[in-house]
Amino acid sequence: MNAPLPKSPLTDPISRRRTFAIISHPDAGKTTLTEKLLLFGGAIQLAGEVRAKRNAQQTRSDWMSIERERGISVVTSVMTFEYAGCVFNLLDTPGHEDFSEDTYRTLSAVDAAVMVIDAAKGIEARTRKLFEVCRLRDIPIVTFINKLDREARDPFELLDEIEKTLALDAAPVTWPLSRGKTFAGTYRFATKSVRRLDKDDEELKVSGLDDEKLAALLPPFEVEGWREEAALAEEGSKPFDLKAFREGHLTPVFFGSALRNFGVRDLIDAMAAYAPPPRGQEADKRQVEASEPKMTGFVFKIQANMDPNHRDRIAFMRVCSGKLTRGMKAKVVRTGKSLSLNAPQFFFARDRSIADEAYAGDVVGLPNHGVLRIGDTLTEGEDLVFRGVPSFAPEILRRITIGDAMKAKKLKEALRQLAEEGVVQLFTPRDGSGAIVGVVGALQLDVLATRLAAEYGLETKYEQTRFTLCRWASSEDKNKLKSFLDANTTAVADDIDGDPVFMASSAFSLNYDAERNPAIGFSDVKDYQ
Ligand code: GDP
Repeated sequence: MNAPLPKSPLTDPISRRRTFAIISHPDAGKTTLTEKLLLFGGAIQLAGEVRAKRNAQQTRSDWMSIERERGISVVTSVMTFEYAGCVFNLLDTPGHEDFSEDTYRTLSAVDAAVMVIDAAKGIEARTRKLFEVCRLRDIPIVTFINKLDREARDPFELLDEIEKTLALDAAPVTWPLSRGKTFAGTYRFATKSVRRLDKDDEELKVSGLDDEKLAALLPPFEVEGWREEAALAEEGSKPFDLKAFREGHLTPVFFGSALRNFGVRDLIDAMAAYAPPPRGQEADKRQVEASEPKMTGFVFKIQANMDPNHRDRIAFMRVCSGKLTRGMKAKVVRTGKSLSLNAPQFFFARDRSIADEAYAGDVVGLPNHGVLRIGDTLTEGEDLVFRGVPSFAPEILRRITIGDAMKAKKLKEALRQLAEEGVVQLFTPRDGSGAIVGVVGALQLDVLATRLAAEYGLETKYEQTRFTLCRWASSEDKNKLKSFLDANTTAVADDIDGDPVFMASSAFSLNYDAERNPAIGFSDVKDYQ
């Protein structure tokens, strides 16, 4: 079903790759679905494996303790499994919205997404937000309407909501046979076949909507209504169109119950058949195609390793082109330095293993001692930088202080390291006052304080600043930018790359300054360079 790829010796391994994430609102069933997908891939023997870890993450205090045992979250950051001749790389995104920055970065490394919707609730706030992030990159989306075994909303209403609130065409591939207590399975329009709730692995052929075998699965009083409804769905909805799907304009919709392991097979089969293989990636100088022979990749996530004493970190890199082989040397474009990829790793549900080779679409963990940071591009020598691992202007700014002045230097270094991991953003005010940290969600502040104490022995405090927001300042005219920054020293700070940010006490005051300085751009997003 896949569009033919350009011929290249690497075409085959690449065309088998499916790199994706699951987007959903908390509680819609992402964890349950992940578990079931992994079971299909044989990646875990025991259902409940993912859940045990996730449940622990749900409360604040448990999250902190689990985060301290870093090994666990490393293992669940990406899960690789094989199914139907494809290699699936499922990239995990944090459940808590305070870590949404992490999620946005992760979505920059996928080629497709599964959108899980609770059939009783429809499109919820977080689903919509994550969808918008996918839309920015035209990521194709397969929809799974979950929990059909419970009270559910009318399927037409749900499809309509997808179309209206997301402005995305919805093409039902299957249609539910009843719902709630009487949910019996799904009918697939294109193949005229039925899957039954407790026999998911068997596809029963029927002659059409009027088939008696179908009627026998429904409560008698629902049969007539169901036939009409399904006929209307078949005729009235958009047919599945691979091109429109790949371009991000249309989503195929499946109905099921992750808990009952129903509908998951259709979903994963659709991912194998329709989801795109690794796509070309936009870099500053040119687009890099997955089939190019030279290895390139970018780091979208960094996680401190299990042993805090050694400051070991794992950088998660998406391979964008070529072939990564263990032991090869790669250039870190930001620093120009060479890095030997001696122990690249693959992750499975429970273990990891050394990756001897990896291809475009794969995600490898690269252990390093702080040489790599989020947004880094690695190549075999070419100077190019991948775009699309953005940084968002923080919504909370705090000055961070330490009681013991002797430790100020150590704090500075610790903050730099943690900012490189993406735990917080770090701003150094130009007026020489103490460092300011910025976060998108308040929970990030707790994580920072806990890690500073546990890993660096630094007891810190936060203080309010008079600033509530900040924007990256830029201008085509370097002189104008300099004079603006010089005139506002007390409200200017440098981020970790030395790029200037302008801090304001309110949106009103920011607007005021922006109007008076039309030559200066104030941006709330910054691409990592
Ligand atoms: P997450 O927050 O999106 O990861 O959601 P979970 O997978 O943890 O599911 C949230 C709750 O919904 C749990 O209690 C699940 O057992 C339940 N759940 C998930 N899928 C289904 C389903 O298909 N049917 C029913 N009845 N419950 C489900």
